[in-house]
Amino acid sequence: MQDITLHLHDEAGTMALGAALSRALAPGLTIYLHGDLGAGKTALTRALLHAAGYAGHVKSPTYTLVEPYTVNINQKPVEVMHFDLYRMGCAEEFLEAGFREHFNETNICIVEWPEKAEKVLPIPDINVILSVSGDGRDVKLCGVSEKGHQCLARLKF
Ligand code: ADP
Ligand code: MG
Repeated sequence: MQDITLHLHDEAGTMALGAALSRALAPGLTIYLHGDLGAGKTALTRALLHAAGYAGHVKSPTYTLVEPYTVNINQKPVEVMHFDLYRMGCAEEFLEAGFREHFNETNICIVEWPEKAEKVLPIPDINVILSVSGDGRDVKLCGVSEKGHQCLARLKF
């Protein structure tokens, strides 16, 4: 499947993409979010979690580096681990914290700033690249694994 390229005119567009992604998710997926500060990585994750039924506050896990959420995917509870590795000192810190264990067959892992742990992170299923474009955002979704391609094939945006 080809990469998906979209323009999100405003925050409502980012919310709609988050909702569409939440409907296409499956347990075990790993998604990396690339883009500068303010590109919309946390906004997209927040939209995805809310659309998946999480009713609480979704903040950026800037200092804790990871925040767990339980949502429903196809009527089954699934753990979504939201990482923000911006403040991670070194890749070893990722291993020492036991973060690698969260990447398994049952969790969904969403990672902001994967570049900070490149050497120790598993290969993602999907790469999402966000960038500021005028008043809105450009986004490119790239399937990496078969599982990632299947997820993007289900995406209805
Ligand atoms: P990041 O996590 O990439 O650093 P945030 O999600 O914290 O970025 O912040 C993104 C900012 O951009 C927020 O202020 C949000 O309201 C805004 N934003 C999100 N999506 C769009 C969009 N499609 N167009 C314009 N502004 C957006
Ligand atoms: Mg962020």
